[in-house]
Amino acid sequence: MAIYTLPELPYDYAALEPVINPQIIELHHDKHHAAYVKGANDTLEQLEEARDKDAWGSVNGLEKNLAFHLSGHILHSIYWHNMTGPKEGGGGEPLAADGVGELADAIAASFGTFAKFKAQLTKASATTQGSGWGVLAYEPVSGRLIVEQVYDHQGNVGQGTVPILVFDAWEHAFYLQYKNQKVDFIEAMWQVVNWQDVAARYAQAKDRTPLIAP
Ligand code: MN
Repeated sequence: MAIYTLPELPYDYAALEPVINPQIIELHHDKHHAAYVKGANDTLEQLEEARDKDAWGSVNGLEKNLAFHLSGHILHSIYWHNMTGPKEGGGGEPLAADGVGELADAIAASFGTFAKFKAQLTKASATTQGSGWGVLAYEPVSGRLIVEQVYDHQGNVGQGTVPILVFDAWEHAFYLQYKNQKVDFIEAMWQVVNWQDVAARYAQAKDRTPLIAP
């Protein structure tokens, strides 16, 4: 039985136009994200088989595959909800007047200003080499927000950090529309950020008990 399942998109394929066209969203969700879900489930099955047979020859590759596919599934599941259409209130910046003042304060405390945070996440996303992500994450030991530049889906991450806003910088996220202009795509992403969703993820992450003392 499948452990992981592909979540439904919270909007239709055209909802993020003109920032992301429907063809990209359809392929990205129905093919790419689906492949990570299948990959994670298949790998768990193969690990069960390895345990049953006490056959550990492939354990190294299987653990790598599990980290890759599971992380791909998790990041994409967050990604879809992090976005909303420009006409549905997406974009701008988090403001107390919109009920997301706690997030706005945390960004200011961690990065100085919203503009500095925006610059850091934009640059970190746009300068990924090969495939990767720019991620705003809650770091529970210090209680701060940090930006991570993720390799593939799973590398270059501080253990225990909780992603709350993720920018997919893989070519499959933009190439059909933006061609080689990755910077243009990342800059356009700011028009579809769903700050209500980011703020809810921040509140949840902050309420978790830290694994270790600061
Ligand atoms: Mn992707």
